Amino acid sequence: MLPDKKTLALLKAVYANENAKYNLAEDRLEHLVPDAVTRADLDLLTARGLAPNNFETFEHDSSLERLLALKHAKKLTLDFAASLFLKGLAGEIPRARQTLLSFLYLKHLSAHQFTGDDSCTICGLPLKETEDKTHTLYTYYLGHSWNESLLNCLIELEEIIQYDKPAITNADRTKLAQLLNFIEQADADETPGKLEKRIAAAKLLEQTDKYKRYGILQTLAECGILPNELVAPKYDTFTTHAQWLAAGEKLTTSHRSDIVLPLGGWKGKLGVNRKRAEEIFDGI
Ligand SMILES: [Zn+2]
Repeated sequence: MLPDKKTLALLKAVYANENAKYNLAEDRLEHLVPDAVTRADLDLLTARGLAPNNFETFEHDSSLERLLALKHAKKLTLDFAASLFLKGLAGEIPRARQTLLSFLYLKHLSAHQFTGDDSCTICGLPLKETEDKTHTLYTYYLGHSWNESLLNCLIELEEIIQYDKPAITNADRTKLAQLLNFIEQADADETPGKLEKRIAAAKLLEQTDKYKRYGILQTLAECGILPNELVAPKYDTFTTHAQWLAAGEKLTTSHRSDIVLPLGGWKGKLGVNRKRAEEIFDGI
């Protein structure tokens, strides 16, 4: 599920330095392959489906169709996505962190016509966008996860669905229990930013930095495990992209948070929804 060390090192050589040039004719940002990456290295990446600058142009209607097809894929269940999340949380497979968020995005998504200008006010997908799929996957190999880059959910799901559900150990379950207990110790006025700092100081989450910890906490918020009062979590219901953006406007005034919803709306006094955590993770 994770590329081997050599593959990851090659991807890092291409993508970590952000050495890129804009290709005007194609209207896209292309990463420059450094001299240290040889022809043989590139062949290796290509053989693994990870050639640099692996561009694909996505259009709203066909992307939505592919997402809806994935929604009905037998393998893509809550159990599959939640198991992956536990492996990502434990730090064993950082790549596995995104899938639960992507699954929740699909949970209540349904067929519709594109509405809006550049991106759809209903589902948030762009009307048309060209993405370097290898770059997108590289960010997930590093252990990031986001509830914003919705097109990227398609790219990552089409990859992760090729893998089997990982076997979950007691150590994986304990890590989640530890994290939830730790979150519950928050003061009533603790913000998500302060929570992240507290987790960092306690060295509770392996293989993370500030933004990767936000991704993990954001996932718990989209599950409804970290509650908020501004927007329904994706686990519960579908919120249009326009409604999500409008709810986010309230954050800057009432919460002074630069963390997006639903995590941005959490406060220590809202605690942890234990019932929801049991619903999703018990039995895994
Ligand atoms: Zn849409």
